Amino acid sequence: MKSYVFPGNIEERILRIAGEPFPYMRTALFSEIVKDSERMLLELIHCPGGRVIFYTASGTGAMDAVVTNYVSLKKKAFIIAGGSFGYRWKSLCEYYQVQNEVFEVPFARDIDYAQLENAVAASRPDVFLCQHHETSTGQLFDLKKISAICRKHNVSLVVDAISSFLSDDLDMEELNIDICITSSQKGLNIAPGLSFLFLSPRILQTDFLHKSYYFDFAENLKNLERGQTPYSPATSLFMQLHARLKENVVLGVDKIIASVRAKALYFRELCRQNGWEIPAEVPSNCITGFFVRQNGDILFNELLKQDIFIMPGGTPCYFRVSHLGVQSEEDLDDLAMRIKEIEYR
Ligand SMILES: *Cc1c(COP(=O)(O)O)cnc(C)c1O
Repeated sequence: MKSYVFPGNIEERILRIAGEPFPYMRTALFSEIVKDSERMLLELIHCPGGRVIFYTASGTGAMDAVVTNYVSLKKKAFIIAGGSFGYRWKSLCEYYQVQNEVFEVPFARDIDYAQLENAVAASRPDVFLCQHHETSTGQLFDLKKISAICRKHNVSLVVDAISSFLSDDLDMEELNIDICITSSQKGLNIAPGLSFLFLSPRILQTDFLHKSYYFDFAENLKNLERGQTPYSPATSLFMQLHARLKENVVLGVDKIIASVRAKALYFRELCRQNGWEIPAEVPSNCITGFFVRQNGDILFNELLKQDIFIMPGGTPCYFRVSHLGVQSEEDLDDLAMRIKEIEYR
């Protein structure tokens, strides 16, 4: 099996951890794993003095938590919608009846930042919701520009960095981000099931709302003081997470990102050679979205028959290949060759 979807191919040594016995959660041993994981996550995203809430939930669970505990405190949200993940912010705000305004960004385009600033100035929101990388299109947004606009207009910045964490540069402190979200099955390259909510030190004293029992920030933060989660965590995933983080901290963020980037650039050169158009204006390192010329209707299933997973893109002939996880140049050569063979059948 070869995986070019999330989380990608995982090393045997990390995979095996999920099959091993795991500690009881209410022990000092497990508390140490939680505390150590929190310390390493804060280091990797550069959020000194911040906190990390661990949820046994997929990334959308953490997005939901942000809206119920934090965004609902605010009068008006401003949302960047450049694809399906942007619209997820919108549907969460609608679901919880938070007043919101959407700034639509065309498929795979970058934001027009001057226009954005005008829209923010006119809308006068108090919280800004966006993705760093809109995973449905491969487009990476410029957080430095977004951050500057939020600072100038005094808007709290919340970033879904689920698919950019550890694949593109992200410094939470420098960018003045109040809340960031990531999850286990993307850049951390372990199984899905855990998500992480980073709170900047600036907002830790906030009187968060209590509208979601399981996701309650205050209850989770209280338990975190002793390295615990209020309810049963996905313990074996925590063991994989801890092992992964220890390796990541030794490698360092720059090396991790450089490695993802090298795979992305290699594959994009193969796309160029094959005439597969890459629509993203500023592509993230995380995935490559591209158009094949024909046979898009059979490509996904034909690769599946060969035990290869790529992501369908929701648009005819458009596909996405993830660059997270174990992936060699030979693997990518082989993948491109197989796609080409199916394309010209
Ligand atoms: C993967 C992803 C999510 C979360 O999806 P889940 O299926 O709930 O884990 C949210 N936002 C972005 C940008 C993503 O890439």
